[in-house]
Amino acid sequence: MFIVGLTGGIGSGKTTVSNLFKELGIAVVDTDVIAREVVKLGSQCLYKIEQHFGSTILLDNGNLDRKKLRHIIFSQPEEKHWLESLLHPVIRRQTRLALEKSSSPYAILSSPLLLESPDIELTSRIAVVDITPEQQVLRTTIRDETNSAQVEKIIANQLSREEKLAKANDIIDNSGTFENTKQQVLNLHRQYLLMKDNHSMR
Ligand code: ADP
Repeated sequence: MFIVGLTGGIGSGKTTVSNLFKELGIAVVDTDVIAREVVKLGSQCLYKIEQHFGSTILLDNGNLDRKKLRHIIFSQPEEKHWLESLLHPVIRRQTRLALEKSSSPYAILSSPLLLESPDIELTSRIAVVDITPEQQVLRTTIRDETNSAQVEKIIANQLSREEKLAKANDIIDNSGTFENTKQQVLNLHRQYLLMKDNHSMR
């Protein structure tokens, strides 16, 4: 299957761009969404997390207290490692399953850490959503009602804009209007439809 990897830093517009591909009838597998699903109420992973950290890691309604967990793994690298060893293989399996199940002409694999992940091997092409770091901070603080220091810290922990762009086959410039981005997605969609035909003839 022809799979286009979609990536970009926090707040760059991956979700916005993914939704535009969805509107064109293209299956989108989003590793952020899968990462939330694998720890949902009643899941094996949530049970193991509770066993490991104790029931104080859960909210009153039984769901995972993400804020508390994030706090723990930020300050304790060995706990981060434990959590990643638990979740990464499950997320990877679910990602592959979802891609196999998709039936659109090609599929989008959206992942903020795609370029650092073995999932990159699943992709035929990489599209990077690009905006300036200043726009990333502005849009994310508005979306998440968080402060700029927090967002800057996350950006500093991700691959730099230059490193991402160097690995891109296609760049979606999301610094302009939604309409402008939509037009770029439509152009890429047309190219991908042609490319996937060549891909399947190989
Ligand atoms: P990501 O999924 O990469 O973190 P989002 O798609 O959630 O990024 O976009 C971050 C925020 O910026 C959202 O609130 C979104 O509505 C907004 N946004 C995305 N693209 C644009 C744009 N071209 N102009 C203005 N705001 C945008």
